[in-house]
Amino acid sequence: MSSRNTSPFARLAAISAALGILCVIGCAQSRTTNNKIMSESSRFELRQMDMHLHAGMERPVPLDEWVDLAVADGRKALLLLDHIELYRKTQAEYEAWAKEDGLPLWYPVGSAGHKALMADFDRVAKERKDDLLVFKGWEIDSRELDGDLEVEPMRMADVLGWHISPNNGGEAPNGQFLIRRAKQLKELQKDFPVPMILCHPFSMRIENIVNTAQEQGRDISKITVKEYRFFQPGEQEQLAEILRGTSIYVEINRAYEGCWKNPVVREAFLEDIRPLAEAGVQFTIGTDHHGLHGAQRPFHPEEYCSELGVTPENANGIVRDLLAKR
Ligand SMILES: [Zn+2]
Ligand SMILES: [Zn+2]
Repeated sequence: MSSRNTSPFARLAAISAALGILCVIGCAQSRTTNNKIMSESSRFELRQMDMHLHAGMERPVPLDEWVDLAVADGRKALLLLDHIELYRKTQAEYEAWAKEDGLPLWYPVGSAGHKALMADFDRVAKERKDDLLVFKGWEIDSRELDGDLEVEPMRMADVLGWHISPNNGGEAPNGQFLIRRAKQLKELQKDFPVPMILCHPFSMRIENIVNTAQEQGRDISKITVKEYRFFQPGEQEQLAEILRGTSIYVEINRAYEGCWKNPVVREAFLEDIRPLAEAGVQFTIGTDHHGLHGAQRPFHPEEYCSELGVTPENANGIVRDLLAKR
């Protein structure tokens, strides 16, 4: 599966464009890193964290430049990751893919690529340890939880992020789906005792609902809060019961920025997310940046997180968790 076709950034642009219409109408364990940065303030502000920064094969610039861009916008804690499936390409597929997108061949494919990527992340963690906390991981399609997992590279990660697909053309992600994934991760943590993230579930539902409406020729301004709502009654309590006190996190990412501008989606998000935060579910903040377009624009997650109940205290949980493992 090509991650370019499922690029969250392309999705973000598509969702924002679609919702924009509505707005117009309606309105490695890097043991070398010390804890100095963390202890300075005891916690990071939301915009100081990016626990979902693509920094591998799809990176537009050399790694140091890429990290500098994040630091220039105020980041102090990073989870650098890449899509694990990219390394499954054959050399010919990889070269054709990179050429199409004008990307350099930063890493080899296969296990040599896994090792080279993680070694790069370790190097940055070591060199930047005085001004930056750097963790490393993978983003893996959550559908792989239903089949065989590629365990060898997974063992190299500080964090495993699970990509929730919009499943366009099929059933949109919903409460039952997320409950099932959360249970699967809890089980998987017996073998992989690292923090895990359920990546961008809520925005992926919005994408599916908007796409489906557009395909049906519906006026998307007529989509209701009820249709956008992720959870059915009782499901938030069930999910919170599974996740509370664990090191499994739910991601709030930059795609929410576009979603938030739509009052109908905003209302659905408030009803879906706020009760989870109040029930003790922990969240992570991530940009999901792949390219320069996003990385060069200031990131302000506090604009939606505060109303959603996702506080810095809550979102620092993963950093505390990771530091405790060092
Ligand atoms: Zn993703
Ligand atoms: Zn991603």
